[in-house]
Amino acid sequence: MHAAAGGLAAPVASLVGVGPRLAERLQRLGVRRVADLLFHLPLRYQDRTRVVPIGALRAEAEAVVQGTVEIAQVQFGRRRSLMVRLADGTGALYLRFFHFNKTQQEGLARGVVLRCYGEVRRGPYTLEMVHPEYRIVDAGAPAPVEETLTPIYPTTEGLHQLALRKLTTQALALLDAGSDGSLDDLLPRGLCDPLGLPTLAGSLRFLHRPPPDTKIGDLETGRHPAQKRLIVEELLAHRLSLRVLRQALGRRRAPPLRGDGRLRAAFLRQLPFTLTKAQQRASEEIARDLAADHPMLRLLQGDVGAGKTVVAALAALAALECGCQAAIMAPTELLAEQHQRNFERWLGALQLPVLWLSGKLKGKARSEVLARIAAETRAVVVGTHALFQGDVRFARLGLAIIDEQHRFGVDQRLALAGKGRRDAEHPHQLIMTATPIPRTLAMTAYADLDTSVLDELPPNRQPVATVVIADTKRDQVVARIAEAIRGGRQVYWVCTLIEESETLQCQTATDTAALLAGALSEVRVALVHGRMKDRERDAAMADFANARIDLLVATTVVEVGVDVPNASLMIIENAERLGLAQLHQLRGRVGRGSVKSDCVLLYHAPLSALARERLAVMRETTDGFLIAQRDLELRGPGELLGSRQAGLAQMRIADLVRDSEMLPFVAKAAEQLLAQYPERIDPIIRRWLPDALHYGSG
Ligand code: ADP
Ligand code: MG
Repeated sequence: MHAAAGGLAAPVASLVGVGPRLAERLQRLGVRRVADLLFHLPLRYQDRTRVVPIGALRAEAEAVVQGTVEIAQVQFGRRRSLMVRLADGTGALYLRFFHFNKTQQEGLARGVVLRCYGEVRRGPYTLEMVHPEYRIVDAGAPAPVEETLTPIYPTTEGLHQLALRKLTTQALALLDAGSDGSLDDLLPRGLCDPLGLPTLAGSLRFLHRPPPDTKIGDLETGRHPAQKRLIVEELLAHRLSLRVLRQALGRRRAPPLRGDGRLRAAFLRQLPFTLTKAQQRASEEIARDLAADHPMLRLLQGDVGAGKTVVAALAALAALECGCQAAIMAPTELLAEQHQRNFERWLGALQLPVLWLSGKLKGKARSEVLARIAAETRAVVVGTHALFQGDVRFARLGLAIIDEQHRFGVDQRLALAGKGRRDAEHPHQLIMTATPIPRTLAMTAYADLDTSVLDELPPNRQPVATVVIADTKRDQVVARIAEAIRGGRQVYWVCTLIEESETLQCQTATDTAALLAGALSEVRVALVHGRMKDRERDAAMADFANARIDLLVATTVVEVGVDVPNASLMIIENAERLGLAQLHQLRGRVGRGSVKSDCVLLYHAPLSALARERLAVMRETTDGFLIAQRDLELRGPGELLGSRQAGLAQMRIADLVRDSEMLPFVAKAAEQLLAQYPERIDPIIRRWLPDALHYGSG
């Protein structure tokens, strides 16, 4: 099919060169329709629009240079490298290659003219580029440079930047043809003009192909008007969808869950601890909401380890006391299984059923569980997002609990809420998050969701002592692990890689596990990563939880919510590459019992100034709110990826923390739209949250 035949609303497969395989990869990025490509925005940019004189280069910048090879020789230092000195009359720099073959070496002979692109670093003699992209050019016939800044898109395995660039070029051509009106401006000019915000189409065109004179710095900080235009609209879409949902909820009916408290009392009696004041307060707030005859929509916010699960269990029991079901949905299999274990232990003692539904459950087992979910009105159902798939029918869902909500889109939450509809009744919703955000920000961002905060950790927790160590001292760290394990402690070793490639990350973890097993012969080592068979991974996790394993080598799959209180030492490799929020989440896996815990942040030198500061923050505090605050202050250019990964909600361009100063404007704009342009509300929500349907129905 020809590209123009489809239009922006057509599936991506209507574009030239998109077959089923490519379509599947695009889908992984959330790109289904051609218009989605336009909202798949670059993470960063490269400037290949001009050749920079070598004399004008600055360290740490990326640049195109062109020059003549003066010397090329192999250097034998700590690592063998090919050093090529390149000069252009304004200065000289070295190109350094650690991997090179004979042909390549011969091609880089004295007198050859090269055009290179790469990151400039300070080397021992002059500036250097390590493994730049390069090609040999004809000095007489100037090679063209790029006409716009080069966008670098978020991508996934097997999908190259070049392919994304070609596809966005096609989508932009359709945008310019301006045929179907699906990207019309929905924001009134009266709102945009005072802030100097351009049109939607203009903004998209600009961000995909910024002209050469654009300041990359502005784009990196999200301050360019074209970005602001999109940020405002996205924040608006989220706010409107929550406003609409809340309005609808207020009109809806929910089963009033005013139980006699017998199950809750029995549950509390068998707990080996008493609730903290904060847990009591949150539970009371929740109980009050549940007793009402319209649906609760409450956010339970509490730092890692604050004990949200127990509060969730109490809420669930309130539903069961009234002959209703409670569902708890977790973002990963690992977490869902952990909830399953906890609830089974807690509710099993009360002779109450806990049903388990994951996406991996197939065939007869699945249909049996589905039948029970459809029949047993007094049960807790635990699972992943499999809970809101089409064929799942709840007998009587009174309460939907969503854990670690930042991992889910608003749309998925709404889908689960929609699930429980039974006649005119809707379930109550409890949303739990460990993302420590200042209360005011939470209120604005979540469009005045009711919020309960666990601002207190269970007693006897000892703050995790954190040290920052260069990875050249690995041996010392390994010795420390051996000692900890001899003392009866359990240890996590977290392998991180910032690269998109999950395969590579799993490989690294596998290699590390083998190395550590070799170095620590008495120690029982296990491995968990995202690519393992479930059975193996579950077995490894269960062994670790039951202390049959001493050292668990893992990828960042352990980031969210895993709870093994006896684990009291964590090593995080390449800690300098992670954002503060993620480090805090990871570190939250230790310090969960009454044992004194330690965290070792291994870094690979050299550290940038920013990385150094971030690691210092981690060493100085374990307070999630303080860390979030410092994160906000430290976050600077180039942090887009990190902040978005740790983002509060799944947003494409907006970042609630970075863009918080726009929230008052967005709130005002939302009211104006609701009052004056009600017909635009739905299109705006659909444009940014294409799956957020159903909220208006019923
Ligand atoms: P999170 O808020 O991160 O989800 P969890 O619910 O996993 O935290 O609880 C962390 C650990 O603290 C669990 O082992 C849990 O049993 C324990 N815990 C929860 N509440 C208390 C309490 N009041 N006193 C002691 N330990 C508690
Ligand atoms: Mg949790």
